Amino acid sequence: MKKPEKKDSAYITNLVAIEDDGSFPCPKCGMTISPEDETEENYKIIDTKVVNKELAELVIACGKCGSTIKLTGFQQG
Ligand SMILES: [Zn+2]
Repeated sequence: MKKPEKKDSAYITNLVAIEDDGSFPCPKCGMTISPEDETEENYKIIDTKVVNKELAELVIACGKCGSTIKLTGFQQG
């Protein structure tokens, strides 16, 4: 059996379950993070994963506590 690689403590948030405006609370500190907010005080983009020219996954760091949060569930075409 393969063990999934475990890096630090990454939280996974599925955007399907998020408010219409795309904002969600940080799973750790509870600060509201809005992907529409492009300032890096709110969050910092660490990595993006694009599949078929569509954004499939976004890895961000909370601007307050620094937790790594992986966003999935972007709507596809
Ligand atoms: Zn946080």
